[in-house]
Amino acid sequence: MPTITQRIAENVAGVRQAIADAAARSGRRAEDVTLIAVSKYVGVAEIDALLAAGCRDLGENRPQDLWRKAEQLGDRPIRWHMIGHLQRNKVRRTLPLVTLLHAGDSWRLLEAASQHLQQSGQMLDVLIEVNVSGDVSKTGFGPEDVEPLLPQIAQLPHLRVRGLMAMARWGGTLDDARRDFVRLRELRDRLAASCPPEISLHELSMGMSGDFEVAIEEGATLVRVGSALYEGVET
Ligand SMILES: *Cc1c(COP(=O)(O)O)cnc(C)c1O
Repeated sequence: MPTITQRIAENVAGVRQAIADAAARSGRRAEDVTLIAVSKYVGVAEIDALLAAGCRDLGENRPQDLWRKAEQLGDRPIRWHMIGHLQRNKVRRTLPLVTLLHAGDSWRLLEAASQHLQQSGQMLDVLIEVNVSGDVSKTGFGPEDVEPLLPQIAQLPHLRVRGLMAMARWGGTLDDARRDFVRLRELRDRLAASCPPEISLHELSMGMSGDFEVAIEEGATLVRVGSALYEGVET
């Protein structure tokens, strides 16, 4: 029986190979795509296995889990990514721990984050989450709501916008996912033309275990992969 560490190392290697292959298919280099290893299903042992396999960028979707793990793993070289919805009352405890906030999903959150960052003096990289699929259950800006807000977002102190984030529709096919990812990339390309200079839209955070290869083919620079890393590991 392979150990957890061996199993996870094999899974990470497989995902990295798939990332490289998909990048090659879209005429890009594997280094242009960052693997965010989503650790929300697992604990310290599996996270240490991820680190041993070279994963430093880890994603959590619940603030309380992020707080707990950041404390348990405070001495490890981890860059934490907040990939889920962040309520404003959790901003204060969460932002100091985070390298990149993926789910910048409302004006009120961005404003609250900026206010907190001004007090603490911290700068934060953030992505604007866009609801490209129109799923009512999903958070994020409507695709047509981003452009009018960009000048205001650009004026928020201490936030550096790096790009856009989206999820494919629930229960869709791979073709549906591809359409959602194309929508995000086309929105980015359209916005980039008129974007305030304070804002970069370079990063596209899209793609999970079931669809990250399609996302890379459509331009993802950050993929958020969880379950594929834990195949054969009880979580
Ligand atoms: C859980 C989660 C992922 C990873 O999903 P998998 O299908 O397990 O790879 C990616 N993004 C977000 C926002 C998530 O909550």
